[in-house]
Amino acid sequence: MWKCGNVEMWKCGNVEMWKCGNVEMNGVGIVIYTFTYFHISTLINFFEFKIIKPMSVLIFIDHTDGHFKKTTYEALSYGVALARQMAIPAEGVLLGTVTEDISALGKYGIQKVHQVKNESLNALDPQVYIRIIAAIAESAKATVIVFSHNSSGKAIAPGLSARLNAGLVTGAIALPDTSKGFLVKKNVFSGKAFATVSIKSPVKIISLNPNAYPIASGEGSAELLNEQITPETSRVKLKSTSKSSGEIPLTEAEVVVSGGRGMKGPENWGPIEELAKLLHAATACSRPVADAGWRPHGEHVGQTGIAIAPNLYLAIGISGAIQHLAGVNRSKIIAVINKDPEAPFFKSADYGIVGDAFEILPKLIQAVKKLRGLA
Ligand SMILES: Cc1cc2nc3c(=O)[nH]c(=O)nc-3n(C[C@H](O)[C@H](O)[C@H](O)COP(=O)(O)OP(=O)(O)OC[C@H]3O[C@@H](n4cnc5c(N)ncnc54)[C@H](O)[C@@H]3O)c2cc1C
Repeated sequence: MWKCGNVEMWKCGNVEMWKCGNVEMNGVGIVIYTFTYFHISTLINFFEFKIIKPMSVLIFIDHTDGHFKKTTYEALSYGVALARQMAIPAEGVLLGTVTEDISALGKYGIQKVHQVKNESLNALDPQVYIRIIAAIAESAKATVIVFSHNSSGKAIAPGLSARLNAGLVTGAIALPDTSKGFLVKKNVFSGKAFATVSIKSPVKIISLNPNAYPIASGEGSAELLNEQITPETSRVKLKSTSKSSGEIPLTEAEVVVSGGRGMKGPENWGPIEELAKLLHAATACSRPVADAGWRPHGEHVGQTGIAIAPNLYLAIGISGAIQHLAGVNRSKIIAVINKDPEAPFFKSADYGIVGDAFEILPKLIQAVKKLRGLA
């Protein structure tokens, strides 16, 4: 309900009611009251009040090979928590087709999923995606749009922000403070500092750092809305895709085992892969390792590579240069194996082993096997 002086208005179901002094009427309107209503509308426009404005938080549902990404569940949990904080509904937007049960996303708290069911959208084309998401955001009256700050979010969010004239904060690490405006906390200077950014535009876009917000699920089922939008012809032609070789995508991994130049050559990566498999981990490497062709570039982490935030980052034979740390310092726990006790990485590590990786790795593998009942 809205009240100003002796003018009141409220909504009950689909019926809007206005009251001015002793005069009361409903949305159907009665001729005798039209004049009074005209004045109330003028008054409201004068004060720039929007009487009843349905709004929503719209969350981008990212998927690959027919499956939802882990970052999608994080974005859903974050978007739903934000929607609850703002007392508005949370909805999802899904472009393309998936093999998973879409209505089950209701477990994360969203009420509706807007899907454009077209297989041509299974490959990300930012220009096409931006136009479709903008149209859905406008029809869903989205006031906040949430992405994960992964490769898809990085490709879509800035263009969408320009199209919708929306303020954008990339790499958010916490729920916005909506008590005094709309303040979003994010990492800056490669995770060395925080910034709190205020978004003042009516539509706001946030991309959430992976592993920055816990996944929360419960009960529920989401309504599926089949959006009849025909994607425009893309100006970009996808010629080929190449996937990183690891079984677990690096950006989604809870545990990452990473090797540096201290591993001496590609022929020595067997123990790193074995340990990664035992720990259900992804493999990563430092930049010189990828530059030398010892490992694929998709594994290179750091300032110029992929930024990750696993629960455990195990760095083996990596010095810990600032450019490497820039991509891994959001890891919850960092463990380092290095034969040089002065290696800079030890300063950022939670656990450290000073010693020769070629002696320590086999012992570590044995210990994990024993723990898992495999030896
Ligand atoms: C603009 C710019 C951007 C960059 N971006 C990145 C980036 O994104 N990612 C990145 O990684 N780097 C990046 N770099 C490079 C970075 O500065 C370092 O040169 C690089 O990270 C070093 O890789 P490394 O630790 O594997 O090798 P090294 O510095 O050679 O370190 C090898 C380490 O292995 C240890 N070691 C050797 N033998 C053993 C053994 N047997 N057992 C245990 N430990 C052993 C050594 O003590 C040493 O600490 C960038 C540089 C620049 C200038």
